[in-house]
This record gives sequence, structure tokens and C-alpha cells, in this order.
Amino acid sequence: MNNPFENALSQLARAQKVQAFPEQFLKQLSVPMREVRISIPVVMDDGRLEVYEGYRVQFNNARGPYKGGIRYHQNADIHEVKALAFWMALKCAVVNIPMGGGKGGITVDPKKLSKTELEKISRGWVRGMADVLGPKKDVPAPDVNTTPEIMGWMVDEFAKISGDTTRATFTGKPIELGGSEGRGAATGLGGYYVFETLREFYSVPNGATVVIQGFGNVGGHAGEIFSKNGYKVIATSDSKGGIVKEDGIDIGALEAWKKEHGTLSGFPGSRDISNEALLELLCDVLIPAALENQITAENADRVQAKFILELANGPITPEADEILFAKHIPVVPDILANAGGVTVSTFEWQQNLSSEHWSEEDVNTKLKNILMRESRVVHEKAVSLKTDLRRSAFIVAMERIASAMGYTL
Ligand code: NAD
Repeated sequence: MNNPFENALSQLARAQKVQAFPEQFLKQLSVPMREVRISIPVVMDDGRLEVYEGYRVQFNNARGPYKGGIRYHQNADIHEVKALAFWMALKCAVVNIPMGGGKGGITVDPKKLSKTELEKISRGWVRGMADVLGPKKDVPAPDVNTTPEIMGWMVDEFAKISGDTTRATFTGKPIELGGSEGRGAATGLGGYYVFETLREFYSVPNGATVVIQGFGNVGGHAGEIFSKNGYKVIATSDSKGGIVKEDGIDIGALEAWKKEHGTLSGFPGSRDISNEALLELLCDVLIPAALENQITAENADRVQAKFILELANGPITPEADEILFAKHIPVVPDILANAGGVTVSTFEWQQNLSSEHWSEEDVNTKLKNILMRESRVVHEKAVSLKTDLRRSAFIVAMERIASAMGYTL
């Protein structure tokens, strides 16, 4: 299994080969400023006491408070959280929002918890972390398996402990608890804006076929948005497996199907496909929207997509990147492609701090302007340095972080 943090450092080294940065800066950017590990005791519904491990990694705050989601997953560990925190620092810089990078997690399979247990573990994470959080210190958000409801419990727990009533310490909250319009769909919608800005440079036709791995918050919204805009989603999957329907999937109907049956399998007119085979389908656009390390040295050569939009964090290993680059398959990197989520999270934080509530139209217009502008910056950098979009996005982000840290480049 690839260690995601080693992958992240290897991406940094690949970018450094294209444009050199001061050695001291690279040293600083290769280690988090702070790592916090806590134990979270939870009295389960049957009276047993379970103790879970929770994390927060505060990677870099040169450009603003640490910012990043909290992941609940049985495989979450400190290496994964560290990698995700590192990518957050670069992500906020690449879209030029005033935030640093952080990430959190708990090693737990939330599907095995009751709602009461889920609430206890979420409040427990906040109690353990409260000292290092705050609207000007560190602002967490949702990630895999964490929802607006969980953010609502967390912001409530934090207010009780700290007395902070701004609600600006957590984003991705329900609207009635200070959440922003547009946050739920922001990562998928942002990915679409990035895609629409870049696709013309890579000759991806309007109406192209799309395959999406992962049918959660990000993948589900992306499916809806791409379909609504004339693209044909021909396959998608979740952790149990996927489905293919060459004449196009009605995403709304699939959502209803999954809600009723608990699985994508059996959707009328479709056939089942494994997650491995899904990544190798012939299509115009492949959107990994699940977890890390999905396209590796082992399967990259079999990828037949013409263009890849990384909505998940870290789905392609550095070795696979080299293979895809050699195959001339453009990859829009996660730190740009999925930055819509943190951008609208930042809008939420700004609204909370100024006691404002912006309309969905305002939110989406601001999101579109930022992502289109910064996508062009990354594209132009790739052209001028004759490199791929990942390396150019890293370089744009690194230049901004280095300058905030006082380095003269
Ligand atoms: P989610 O929990 O809502 O959905 C994850 C989806 O992936 C689910 O459908 C799950 O069944 C599926 N999945 C899990 N393991 C899988 C596997 N092995 N193969 C195929 N599918 C699998 O999470 P999400 O918020 O949609 O996050 C998805 C990815 O997007 C993550 O990498 C996350 O870090 C990234 N991301 C999320 C946001 C956000 O705003 N939520 C922002 C930026 C990046």
C-alpha cells in the first residue's frame, strides 16, 4: 500500500525538479507544524467502553488559519491525515484563498455506529482538540463520512467549551446553524468550473462521456452537474461496486435507487462492474471521487480515459502520474480540481465572521470567478514550464506559500 504522505513528498520533489525552490523552504514544507493525536472514549449503546484514535494535523498556516476536513474511516491513520493536510495547504494557496492547510480524522467505521454513538465520538473529537481550534486558528470541515449534521454537533460542542459564538470554527454546517448556501454541491460544482475552463485546451468535446468512481457527496453532485450540462455519465460506483449504462445514467433516479436498495447494483438498464474495471473503461473523462491510491503503477497503463479530473484527494500515485503523462492523458490535480469545497467553506467562515448570509447565486458566482481565474493561471504555468498540470499547480501554490513565509524567489 502506498503511504499517501510519501506520495505527497514525492510530488513535491517532482515539482522542485521543474522549478527550484530554496532548500530551507522545502525542508519547512516537508513537515507539519503540529500533529495532535487524542484518544476518544465512547460509552457504546450496549454499555461497553470503546476508545477510538483521533487526529489533527496542522500543516502550514503561513497564508491563514489551518483549514481542512475531518475524515471518519476504518483505514484513516496519521500518514493519511498528514498527506491530506499537506495537500490542503497547497490547495488553499493554488486558489489563493486566505487559509492554511490542516486535516483531521478518526480511525472508525462510522457505518458500525448508531446515531447516538456517532454524536458522542464527534463531540469527543472536539473536546480533545478544542485547545488547537478556533476561527483564527484552525477551521475544520467535512470530508469522507462526515456530514453537515456532524459539523452541527461539533460547532455546538465547541461553543460550549470555548464560549465562541461566531460559529466560524467549523464549516460545512447545516444552513440553520450558520452554514453557507451552496456548500453541499461546492466540490462537484467547483470541479465542473475547473473542467470547463481547461477542457478546451485539451480538446475534450462538450457532451463527452464521463465515468465517476465514488457516489458520495462529491461524486454524486458531480454526476448531477455534469449530466445537467450535457455530459453523459456512463458509469459510477461506491464502496460496494459499480454499474455501467452506456446510454447514460439518470443520476436523480440512481440516487433514489440507492436510497431504496442500499446499493447501486440492479439499477434498471445497467450491468455491474467492479471498481477496478470501472477505472479502465473507455471514456472521455474519468473522475476519481472516492479515496487515495486508486490509479497506481499497476493499473495506470490500462486507463483508457482521455482526460482525468481528480475530485478525490490523492487518487493517483506519483508512479502512475509518470505513466499517464507518457500516455498524454492530462490530469487535473486534486489541489485544483476539488478546491471548490474549501473555497465555499472559506466563504462560510467569512459570512460567519461578518454576520452575513449570501445567496446561492452570489456564492456560485464568486466560486466560478475564483476557480476559472486560478485554473487559467495553472494552465499558463504548465505551458510556460512545459510540464503537467500537477507540477504547475504545485509550483503556483509553492510560490505563494514561500512568499507568505518571507522567502524571496
Ligand atoms: P463521501 O463519504 O460522501 O463519499 C465517498 C464515496 O466513495 C462513497 O460513495 C463511498 O461508497 C465511495 N467509496 C469508498 N471506498 C470506495 C472504493 N474503494 N471504491 C469506490 N468507491 C468507494 O465522501 P466525499 O466527501 O464525497 O469525498 C470523496 C473524496 O473527495 C475524498 O477523497 C475527499 O477527501 C475528497 N474531497 C471531498 C470534499 C468535500 O467537500 N466533501 C472536498 C474536497 C475533496
